[in-house]
Amino acid sequence: MNFPMKYLIPLQAALMVSAHAAGPGNTNDFRGKRVLIIGIDGLLPSALKAAGTTHLRQLMDEGTTTFTGHSGGTPGTPTEQPTLSGPAWTTMMTATYADVHGVRGNTSSPYGTPGGYQVERAPHFAKRLKEIKPTASVGSIASWGWIEDYLVAAQPSAFDLHSKGEGKNYAEKDLDVSRKSVDCLLGGNPDVLFVHFDQVDGAGHASGFKVDNPTYLEAVRVVDTHVGALLAALKKRPRYALEDWLIIATTDHGGTSGGAHGGQSPEERTIFIILSGGGYPKGQVVESKPGLHVIPGITFRHLGMPVEPRWEWHSEPSDGTR
Ligand SMILES: [Zn+2]
Repeated sequence: MNFPMKYLIPLQAALMVSAHAAGPGNTNDFRGKRVLIIGIDGLLPSALKAAGTTHLRQLMDEGTTTFTGHSGGTPGTPTEQPTLSGPAWTTMMTATYADVHGVRGNTSSPYGTPGGYQVERAPHFAKRLKEIKPTASVGSIASWGWIEDYLVAAQPSAFDLHSKGEGKNYAEKDLDVSRKSVDCLLGGNPDVLFVHFDQVDGAGHASGFKVDNPTYLEAVRVVDTHVGALLAALKKRPRYALEDWLIIATTDHGGTSGGAHGGQSPEERTIFIILSGGGYPKGQVVESKPGLHVIPGITFRHLGMPVEPRWEWHSEPSDGTR
């Protein structure tokens, strides 16, 4: 065969780049940088401190934490939105608020219609990442079905892996999410993996979002064991030593002692954000007041990816978790 070598070599190089883009260690598109986002629905910052966790405590010890972030946007401005799961997770995944993403409740309205998710204007950050790096690998595994069936379903091609927790109740769904996430971390090579747990919110609705509710705190400790399983799986990755994981743990809103959320009270609005690994200072608690929208920007910053103004990602001075 007389196919000139000068054509063959660039072709091989291109194939290698493609094959390695979602590889282990530092062979991915981001020189080993990766992000694990752990979302724990409805977890009050005060309950995170009081529950006596092991693994979330470890993330705090190894990272920088704020207990004074906020859900619900900025009251009295176009970003104000209910402290409900639908708008909140949409903000966390799109870096926009309801004035842009359109989600003001746990809606099932058709995409692009009034009241529905404006997916064209405010896609999931996974879609933006793939616009820059088509070979990036992003996963979403969520206990609350709405995330999978409405938010992710609007743009499934942005994900290499996406699923929801199966089971008869919150605890079973969370366990299923934990197992699927461990499988992904051990058997796959995600650049970004979003994992969502729901039973803390379930306990809050059933018996009150309050720090002196033992049922609520017990749910936090159960989810903490799932966080432990994820962290153990990360460390078992064969080329973990070459990888630079940023682990983000956060929540979408708080709740009231009566078992509700959606309003703009401090107990409903206030959230925590833990940034562990990725060069963030260890054992630091900062009093910054970031909104939920900062999560995609923090993710892109760790990956070394630019954020383009045309995306309309929200930014405000309170983006100060660094
Ligand atoms: Zn929620």
